[in-house]
Amino acid sequence: MNKAEEIKKVENLARKCKRCILYKYRKNVVFGSGNINSKLFFLGESPGKKEDEKGIPFCGKAGKILEQLFKSISLERQDVYITSVLKCRPPKNRNPKKDEIEKCSFYLDKQIEIVNPEVIVCLGRISLNYILKKYFNRKNFLITDLHGKIIEKNGKKIFPIFHPAFAIYNPKKFEIMKKDFKKLKGLIC
Ligand code: SF4
Repeated sequence: MNKAEEIKKVENLARKCKRCILYKYRKNVVFGSGNINSKLFFLGESPGKKEDEKGIPFCGKAGKILEQLFKSISLERQDVYITSVLKCRPPKNRNPKKDEIEKCSFYLDKQIEIVNPEVIVCLGRISLNYILKKYFNRKNFLITDLHGKIIEKNGKKIFPIFHPAFAIYNPKKFEIMKKDFKKLKGLIC
């Protein structure tokens, strides 16, 4: 099986998934999109309202911010792979629960294994702490302490940045994120 077939197989499983309670509320499973051969794997928290309606990650206001950040380092969203820790929207955009993250991790772990990126870009606290726990045996870090810093162990690199939703009404945060993106560009060039 090639990479595209492998990822499709996992996506088909996710589309029928009832592992956690969130299947009851979803309109669409938001599995992931973009370039499965990219060096960069962007990882958000969970789908929002727009994402749930369209089945596409980061297609709402936060997605527009993310696209501006991509442009700032001459990237397009189709150049990278994008997904979230949870594939179904939690009601009223509440935070993901521990058991939902555990149950959904099957899909995320498979995506990381198949895409095999050089850098996992963690968008916000939830994705940062999932990846730190999984690959680095570390937990409970704040994004404010680690954003813009490369963390590397056993060939795995992660790069935390703020969740783009923080920058929607906060131009100062957007400027911080632009600086972090410049550092990210330095890592992959
Ligand atoms: S959030 Fe994940 S584990 Fe829960 S139903 Fe959706 S795909 Fe399955």
